[in-house]
Amino acid sequence: MNSQNSLSSESSMGSQPHHKKYRRQTHKRIFVNRSLNLEKIKFFGFDMDYTLAMYKSPQYEQLGFDLVVERLVSIGYPQELYSFVYDPCFPIRGLFFDKTYGNLLKMDPYGNILVAVHGFRFLHTSEMLKLYPNKFLALKSNDERLFILNTLFNLPETYLLACLVNYFITSQDYTETETGVKKGDLMLSWESIFEDTRNAVDYVHIGVCATHGTLKEKTVENLEEYVIKDPRLPTLLQRMRDHGRKVFLVTNSGYSYTEKIMTYLFDFPHGATGPPGPSSMPSTPHKQWYEYFDVCIVDARKPLFFGNGTILRQVDLDTGALRIGSHVGPFHKGQVYSGGSCDVFSDLIGAKGNDVLYMGDHIFGDILKSKKLRGWRTFLVVPEIAQELTVWTEKRALFEKLEDLDSALADQYKNLDSSTELVPDISKVRKTIQQVTHEMDMCHGKLGSLFRSGSRQTFFASQLLRFADLYSSTFLNLLHYPFSYLFRAPHQLMPHESTVDHYEICPHFEEDQKSMSMMSPALTRKRTMSSRPTSTHNHQTDMIASAPDPVEVTHDHDVDE
Ligand SMILES: [Mg+2]
Repeated sequence: MNSQNSLSSESSMGSQPHHKKYRRQTHKRIFVNRSLNLEKIKFFGFDMDYTLAMYKSPQYEQLGFDLVVERLVSIGYPQELYSFVYDPCFPIRGLFFDKTYGNLLKMDPYGNILVAVHGFRFLHTSEMLKLYPNKFLALKSNDERLFILNTLFNLPETYLLACLVNYFITSQDYTETETGVKKGDLMLSWESIFEDTRNAVDYVHIGVCATHGTLKEKTVENLEEYVIKDPRLPTLLQRMRDHGRKVFLVTNSGYSYTEKIMTYLFDFPHGATGPPGPSSMPSTPHKQWYEYFDVCIVDARKPLFFGNGTILRQVDLDTGALRIGSHVGPFHKGQVYSGGSCDVFSDLIGAKGNDVLYMGDHIFGDILKSKKLRGWRTFLVVPEIAQELTVWTEKRALFEKLEDLDSALADQYKNLDSSTELVPDISKVRKTIQQVTHEMDMCHGKLGSLFRSGSRQTFFASQLLRFADLYSSTFLNLLHYPFSYLFRAPHQLMPHESTVDHYEICPHFEEDQKSMSMMSPALTRKRTMSSRPTSTHNHQTDMIASAPDPVEVTHDHDVDE
């Protein structure tokens, strides 16, 4: 990773860079899928869990894991489950659990299975093909069979499901069947084990019994152990407000938990701090967390919030109870509200949709729904980016080796065309490609990268590309950009662009017009614009004869206004 702001060449459009492009340090950067003009953003919205409040890893996942195990034992699962120890190297976000066969699946965006693991055992291609013809499983909305483990909150249960399957298939007491395990006249299907685990997760998250030690209760008992506190948080929020922007919170957590977490996050002797350097301004005095927000919504029930929503109510800050009746506005600063819907909320704050930048970690609940249903601009928090980029930069030798192997493969077919009877032996190169790809995957953990498996993208990566306008390891990276910044998306190159250099010489069709026109009639079609001045022509004739050339720029290719 670069240790200072760097000048790196703009090489994405091919070789022969003609100028150097300034880039911020890698760990400070925000990445862009769709261009966004920060100047047009009037509202900055925040999710809380895993966005404003980043939980410490792996101890927070370990806590969640242990509590779910405790719950499963309390409903009758074997005591041996207590021997399970959370392994942070195993789970990644975005895996699917197949309730029929008890497998964790890493999928591409189209339903092709990239990796399948049964307990701790990775399935070979031949085993996969028996269970999943063509290594394919159709991805349907409201699918009963597949459950996607989308969020960072799902990491403990992802590993726990692997532990449970492994436990039952290796236990002497149980016999494995295709869809579960048997012990005497007891049948435990993978589906029932999954449902029990899911209910146990809900139990420790939501806290059915007030006296029971749930995840949230354990977290607030020891905030220092589980929650990251960053002194730059008040500074960023204050700067947003100083630049005339409104700041709001929309979290699914309840008031009591939100209040404790947010108080902790802003618990510094100071408020905002000035820029570093000799002209450093003194820090502003400490302020209460809610003073940094124009509107605070708890119990939002996203993604429902972005659809029909629930009744909007005011929270009594003394008791935490909800006031009776529905709040019809306006919002008052320093107050906290519960529920509501995005429609009502947007009306009350006067937001159009594309003037809101919402920051969250949940690809479905925060990002996909807010964009698809409301047209909000979106910022996905992906803490895994830091680790992914470390592998990307530190293991570049492996990427270079893959490129060399790719060249070796191309060489094998050099000078061969359809007339040849020769079948080059590429098995050795293919095997080495597989080994290097595996080595690269293992740098990320047992299930590889969050975004890819070899050269193939994951379902998670495709959703990120589609629905997150911006993404970064933390929203605090906004500190490194001026509020007038134009985030400009890099060209997303198609294979015919990424593998053809700008400087490559294409055959000139005039020299070989006959063969080129047989290859593609489009090549001989005249595509250059006419140079005739439109004003000298009869307007009516023009309209009938041909469309005039556009004489001015009418639209912005970068930003949706
Ligand atoms: Mg969250």
